[in-house]
Amino acid sequence: MSIIKQYIEAGISEKVYDFGEKALAPLKERFEKIEKTAELNQLKVLNAMRKNRVDAACFNISTGYGYNDLGRDKIERVYADTFHTEAALVRPQIVCGTHALAVALSANLLPGDELLSPVGKPYDTLEEVIGIRDSKCSLKEYGVSYRQVELLSNGDFDYENIKKAINEKTKLITIQRSKGYQVRPTLSVERIGELISFIKKIKPDVVVMVDNCYGEFVEEREPSDVGADMVVGSLIKNPGGGLAPIGGYICGKKEYIDRCAYRLSAPGLGQEVGASLGVMQSFYQGFFLAPTVVASAEKGAIFAAAIYEKLGFKAVPSSWEERYDVIQAIELKSAEGMSAFCKGIQKSAPVDSYVTPVPGDMPGYDSQVIMAAGAFVQGSSIELSADGPLREPYAVYFQGGLTWYHAKIGVLASLQEMVNAGLVKL
Ligand SMILES: *Cc1c(COP(=O)(O)O)cnc(C)c1O
Repeated sequence: MSIIKQYIEAGISEKVYDFGEKALAPLKERFEKIEKTAELNQLKVLNAMRKNRVDAACFNISTGYGYNDLGRDKIERVYADTFHTEAALVRPQIVCGTHALAVALSANLLPGDELLSPVGKPYDTLEEVIGIRDSKCSLKEYGVSYRQVELLSNGDFDYENIKKAINEKTKLITIQRSKGYQVRPTLSVERIGELISFIKKIKPDVVVMVDNCYGEFVEEREPSDVGADMVVGSLIKNPGGGLAPIGGYICGKKEYIDRCAYRLSAPGLGQEVGASLGVMQSFYQGFFLAPTVVASAEKGAIFAAAIYEKLGFKAVPSSWEERYDVIQAIELKSAEGMSAFCKGIQKSAPVDSYVTPVPGDMPGYDSQVIMAAGAFVQGSSIELSADGPLREPYAVYFQGGLTWYHAKIGVLASLQEMVNAGLVKL
């Protein structure tokens, strides 16, 4: 059976498929570059696993206190060696990325200290962690103050005001690598490195934390290679490789990671406790697959950008720009466009393919939000997904794809829905 027949069976016309093939042809070189990065990162992960002599005993299940859990201790060494840090905390008890960031912050900030974000507003969920929006148990409630310096309108760092904002109270500086759901550019590891050197010249003992969500394995280096004291992320995004069912990580200098472990469990207990409950094999195997999963998601993002740019929509980043994370924003200009796009992504999901996404209210948003996701792991956004608030510029945020082919099929299905709704003409 030909591939066209299979596509037609999936509800995707030959015309849409051909349009996709034309958009794909000029991307060959970019894809080759992505594969090279994946190859390098695959080696990095493999070498860390070999160095630490990972074996079948690492996959054993521990329960209760989890004392002497060899697999748990070794996965932390594997992360630390991959990210080139002294220590790491990698746990199923870290429930998501926000939790990992909250642990890293609250463990290393004491009453009277100040937190600074030199790259503008942090990710939505951190507003409540910090207390930018009043919230129970926020850092603000515990007497930690907060300052923020916006990026300049061209996306550059505002060095002058960053310098002014650093004072005797400044204890920790948080830098978000990915744009998240904002329109600012994602920061490359190189730019993060420049910012860190500038900050450390002004105040050498300040702790620099990087929110690494969606950035892991996109480049050959991580922020911990350019001076970050802690890098933090979620295992249901890039480093979990789609297999980790839960979890978060914090990698960095031992003195800061120790504090994170005490904050996560209890003072005096720290990293010694915490049963792994049978998730270890998925942590190892997911981390092992992560470089190629990230490459697949990146290819899907570039393919989506190329298709929609051809049709006159704005893509951020554009299909020809360097990428530093796996998120792709596409401004679809209308609520109908967003609905059609999400319908196609949902229809192509391996799980919940039969449901139709509809816009709904979400806490923290002033407009309705539409979401398409059909994931093996609930909320996993390294699996193919799309979402966005229904307001100007009607941008849909597209991310993930455990395999490149699945990402491709999803993008073609979104295009088919746009065609069916009469929103584009090929
Ligand atoms: C996803 C994300 C978070 C929060 O992670 P959750 O797992 O959703 O709690 C924080 N920062 C950035 C940049 C993210 O993309």
